[in-house]
Amino acid sequence: MSAGPGAGAVTLGVIADDFTGATDVASMLVRGGMRTVQLIGVPAGDMSALGSAAAQADAVVVALKSRTTPAADAVAESLAAWRWLRNAGARHCYFKYCSTFDSTPAGNIGPVTEALMDELGTDFTIACPAFPENGRTIFRGHLFVGDQLLSDSGMRDHPLTPMRDSNLVRVLQAQCRAQTKVGLLRYDSVARGAAGVRQGVAALRAGGVRIAVADALHDADLRVLGDALGGLPLLTAGSGLALGLPEFYERQGLVQRRADAAEIGAMGGRAVVLSGSCSLATQGQVAHWRSAQRPARALDVRALLGQAASAAAEEAAVLAWARGVLAGGGVPLVHSTVDAAQLHELQGRWGAQAAGARVEQALAALARGLADAGVQRFVVAGGETSGAVVQALGVRGLRIGESICPGVPWTEALGAVSAGRTAAPMWLALKSGNFGAPDFFSTALAMAGAAGARA
Ligand code: ADP
Repeated sequence: MSAGPGAGAVTLGVIADDFTGATDVASMLVRGGMRTVQLIGVPAGDMSALGSAAAQADAVVVALKSRTTPAADAVAESLAAWRWLRNAGARHCYFKYCSTFDSTPAGNIGPVTEALMDELGTDFTIACPAFPENGRTIFRGHLFVGDQLLSDSGMRDHPLTPMRDSNLVRVLQAQCRAQTKVGLLRYDSVARGAAGVRQGVAALRAGGVRIAVADALHDADLRVLGDALGGLPLLTAGSGLALGLPEFYERQGLVQRRADAAEIGAMGGRAVVLSGSCSLATQGQVAHWRSAQRPARALDVRALLGQAASAAAEEAAVLAWARGVLAGGGVPLVHSTVDAAQLHELQGRWGAQAAGARVEQALAALARGLADAGVQRFVVAGGETSGAVVQALGVRGLRIGESICPGVPWTEALGAVSAGRTAAPMWLALKSGNFGAPDFFSTALAMAGAAGARA
């Protein structure tokens, strides 16, 4: 099929309310055959400043940090993101949030959706965080996490966005203006396929509904929704709805799905693993690496938080150790990962915020020092840690490659500038804490062609 009028331009512009969520939806689009780039925040310049990989993208995902910021800030940033995407040629807008609908009565899903509807001049959209493959289903407007209602799941006690009502129609209505009527696209309609969805939507619109929470129990339901509603100017959803969109766009002649959508070039250069996550999965991954006798060094967090001289000495010693391992052909792992008891002790003494920020700073500085030493492949564990590393390396965007595990792809850095080196390509695998099997680090390295590196 010809690529049609959209060839050479971005078809889909996605606004994601957090970094790992952005990677998640980007991986989904790549899986469907769309070349996808993830940008870290709204870029200052236009697409051409981001290089040819960005210019060829079928979908661009702008990663914001707007999930828990004040609603007015989230609205302003989301609008800025959409205006940038529209200028880059995006024809359709996708607002991506968490599959557990993480939000509060103040927002930000409702206010951002309303603002995007106003901006796009549209009077109807859907809200669908369902992702059955990952256990998130919606029935009669109620969100389930596995077999539990959202309000009975761990999300009940989330520190920032506790979700205590599973009825998404009610949750979303509370976040919206009174005149924005939120309704329900019932499973009865979805189960009747695309025609059923179109009929259901027509009835809802006739009844004045502007945002419809869509029921979905199976991944096939998401494909039906994509098929029936992919042409809407705005979709709001978790990453699941992106499952069926590439096919829809191809049928519309907007993209040509490609077998090489995940192509990010042959990875090379030295490789390191940096872990600033204390999540259980990461603890297991660090232990697994150590048990295989691979070179690992724990950051001395006490030294980092002590006198300036001891902190500087620790940073220098870790960098020297890692460089020594690299010189011997090995892959070093540096981690601040500790178990819960040790973490509580450190946090109790120095404060969680201060300790966390100092550890992030040290790992970010180490990443920079290692880039200067010729490292081009980085495996990083920890969401916040990844953000700090990406910033320190001057990475402005990521071309999304093949997934190492669901939601964690290898990526090629766009716009990386490390001191002392000119435009060496860099590849990053950024893993949020609880993702991945115990052998995640070695799996990632094997995919990057670094498996043969001496242990
Ligand atoms: P995750 O994805 O597992 O939540 P993050 O990187 O997002 O990981 O968050 C972990 C936070 O904990 C970071 O701010 C990090 O700097 C901090 N941290 C990591 N190790 C330690 C430690 N040993 N002591 C104190 N804080 C730590």
